[in-house]
Amino acid sequence: MGKLLPFLTVLSFVFAVACRNNSVVETDTGIQETARKICEEQLILDSHIDWPERLYSSPADLSQLTESRDFDLVRAKTGGLNAVLSVLYVPAELGPEEGRFMLDSMLDLVTGYAVRYPDRVALARNPGEVAANFAKGLLSIPLCLENGSPIGDDLSYIEALQKKGMAYITLCHAKSNQICDSNYDSIRPWKGVSPFGEEVIREMNRQGIMIDISHSTDSTVVQALRISEAPIVATHSSCRHFTPGFERNLSDTLIKAIAEKNGVVMIGFSSMFLDSTCSVNSEYLLNWFDSTGVAWESQEGTEFMQTFSVTHKLRADAAQLVDHIDHVVRIAGIDYVGFGSDFDGMGPSQPTGLPDVSSYPVVVAEMLRRGYSGEEVVKVLSKNFLRVWQEVLNVSIVLQKEPAG
Ligand SMILES: [Zn+2]
Repeated sequence: MGKLLPFLTVLSFVFAVACRNNSVVETDTGIQETARKICEEQLILDSHIDWPERLYSSPADLSQLTESRDFDLVRAKTGGLNAVLSVLYVPAELGPEEGRFMLDSMLDLVTGYAVRYPDRVALARNPGEVAANFAKGLLSIPLCLENGSPIGDDLSYIEALQKKGMAYITLCHAKSNQICDSNYDSIRPWKGVSPFGEEVIREMNRQGIMIDISHSTDSTVVQALRISEAPIVATHSSCRHFTPGFERNLSDTLIKAIAEKNGVVMIGFSSMFLDSTCSVNSEYLLNWFDSTGVAWESQEGTEFMQTFSVTHKLRADAAQLVDHIDHVVRIAGIDYVGFGSDFDGMGPSQPTGLPDVSSYPVVVAEMLRRGYSGEEVVKVLSKNFLRVWQEVLNVSIVLQKEPAG
């Protein structure tokens, strides 16, 4: 017995470790299964996916599993995606007329999917329609405009945009425009929102179109919050807390201010937004692609990136993404955060393990590991954004009853 004891001790230790490892594996498998079930059963909304512009510049059949798109109907089904704010992105370089032409062309492409696949896809103009589509098993594809430059100097075009179905307008993109200053532009003529931009925001309030401040400077956000009578949204911005100096992400002060006005911050998935090192390295890469004119999808581009990525971190991961969600929850609360992935608009910056719209269960699993309840997860998946959207529509009903001017 005496001689056996050490052996038994070692054996029981080995057994205990084996059991512990097994239970860890089982527990995590269980978490992944729960996450998948949540994604199957609950409404998932992503507030920013650039599939229309990508389709416009490079046609593909998104009803099938594609080779390299972040979004297609098959991947959306796998990920449990039920509502995708479909971004009609108009580059900052285009004038209003060219911008409107491009917008209408993308609009035809998007609505074409709802016409061709009525048993899979449907447009939606409000949260009620999103819910009704969800009940019928249809993917909602509400529309939105990224960059208000096609408005030109014509306020009446905002009503036309509302009639076309825009749920939100991102005020600006890579360059300051007639509405406000952009955080990607060193030229900032308005020190925030322009006088015309003030009118644009008021008219958007009246038309029930959400104001998206992603891409705007800090001053623009502060002023938009002051001018708007409705909550505002950041449809694809993450936390500057993790990327100091990267203005494209939101400071804690701005996140709190958006939340205080009952808005919502939709976290972008791009590694550039999630991790400072990735941000610096990606910026170097973008400059390289810009200056050489090489396309990132070309063989030369892919090879360059592969070599570069051996020594430079380019990809964040799901844990880092959930760090951003945690951060908003910590400083503002669970009611003010959601997913605004920017899939099909982030180039090759998807985090490891989150390559496309099939990835939401991976994020949900990470949230469950950190102790988020099912109810909290549902808020992040769609409830928060839908609440803000409905409130913006409610404000417009009140404003339209008031005499104009
Ligand atoms: Zn964007």
